[in-house]
Amino acid sequence: MKRIRVQVAIAGAGLAGMALALRLARRGHRVALLERRSRPGGAVHTVPGPHGGMDNSVHLFLQAFTRCRALLEEIGALAELRTLEAWACVALNQRLIRLPMGKGVLASLPDLLRLGPPRALGLGRGMLRVLGTGEPPRCTAVMWLQGRGMVASTFEARFWQEWSLGVFNTPLDQVDAGLFSRTARTLISQPRLQRPLVAASTLERLWILPLERALDRAGVQLVTASPVVEARRSPGRLTAFQATELQVEAEHFVWAAPPHEMHRVTGLAELAPPFPPHGEGLHIVNLRLPVEQRPASTPGLRGWFGEAFQWLFDAPGGEAVLVGSAWTDAHLAERHRMEARLPKLLAPHGMKVAGSARWLVQRHATPLQSPAHEAARPGVHTALENMWLCGAWVDTGLPASMEGALAGAEACFAALDSALE
Ligand SMILES: Cc1cc2nc3c(=O)[nH]c(=O)nc-3n(C[C@H](O)[C@H](O)[C@H](O)COP(=O)(O)OP(=O)(O)OC[C@H]3O[C@@H](n4cnc5c(N)ncnc54)[C@H](O)[C@@H]3O)c2cc1C
Repeated sequence: MKRIRVQVAIAGAGLAGMALALRLARRGHRVALLERRSRPGGAVHTVPGPHGGMDNSVHLFLQAFTRCRALLEEIGALAELRTLEAWACVALNQRLIRLPMGKGVLASLPDLLRLGPPRALGLGRGMLRVLGTGEPPRCTAVMWLQGRGMVASTFEARFWQEWSLGVFNTPLDQVDAGLFSRTARTLISQPRLQRPLVAASTLERLWILPLERALDRAGVQLVTASPVVEARRSPGRLTAFQATELQVEAEHFVWAAPPHEMHRVTGLAELAPPFPPHGEGLHIVNLRLPVEQRPASTPGLRGWFGEAFQWLFDAPGGEAVLVGSAWTDAHLAERHRMEARLPKLLAPHGMKVAGSARWLVQRHATPLQSPAHEAARPGVHTALENMWLCGAWVDTGLPASMEGALAGAEACFAALDSALE
């Protein structure tokens, strides 16, 4: 059994664990980062394959993600971000302005409403700015909905200050700020305000390789294929992370892997239960297929694409990427059944299917958001004096997202840095 001794041992090399390790190492601390899988990256991984592999879904990157931007700049990967052309249409000062691609907000509403059985629609602060109308009830879209018997109002989103249009299946009084998955479906942009960004190439090139190189340069010991299987402790504190074939002794321990794993591995259920339950959440479906494209086709995002898949992208290497979501296994089966209909559906987009599809389905990718789950999110401190929590799931005030993961890392860094002084 190999043993190493460091100042900080971190379990989980997702975005949060990697960002935290980097900051601590740059501060001069000796850090070991243990990852269960054979490669780091966690939720932002790329499955190897032709044309740069297949991303674990498309990761939408908003202008509001200031921490992400700063980190990408720091690790020299900002150039990998592609700015999308505006692909929505908005109502501004009571007039509908059509943007180059996609449908108008109001014209899209019937489509949005067909997605589920929504009972309410919320407009975030950013949308109100876009609409240029100030408070409801003068807000056009709210009035449009109210006129059709819908419950419509605004919601205060700490996170979605730049744009927000949410179609909710829950009444507004149960809607909370952290509504990533559903609001992302209705991504609206307005050219003079903000544009959404999206990872241009692969998540590998955007995050993982540059972060790995930065970790290496900073002297972090990254040990992959090393799941932490046990946490040893003496009263009140941890003494070691036990991975397969490796024991890591440290002054401080960070759990940057998912919370349900922590309970299973450490048995430290008393830390801050109950955590948001896992196994409840939206499945994200990512389908990649070879297509013959018309030479005149515009590369990039083609926008809204029906009910089963919300986005259609042109990918490098003559592939198309369709990204969709499903709440249940029955929805998932529907998505799979669509494969036979894809040639017909893609034809109007100038695409002819030239091979069979590859699917990547991430079950429960986005945890169910509700005020009860929000209230159960723990902070970075635990009942043990030298164990800390990190990740998109800690109480950052942000939805589980890339920005949320970095906010978790930031909070953990602040706590640890002062503890290590
Ligand atoms: C399909 C999908 C689509 C998404 N789309 C978006 C999007 O468009 N925009 C956005 O901002 N966010 C999106 N997200 C969310 C975002 O990717 C995550 O919130 C964020 O990357 C989580 O980072 P993390 O480091 O907290 O956790 P994770 O990435 O889950 O990292 C945890 C790591 O811990 C490792 N681990 C687990 N158990 C152990 C163990 N016992 N020992 C050691 N290591 C262990 C795991 O292998 C993993 O690498 C999406 C997520 C998914 C899954």
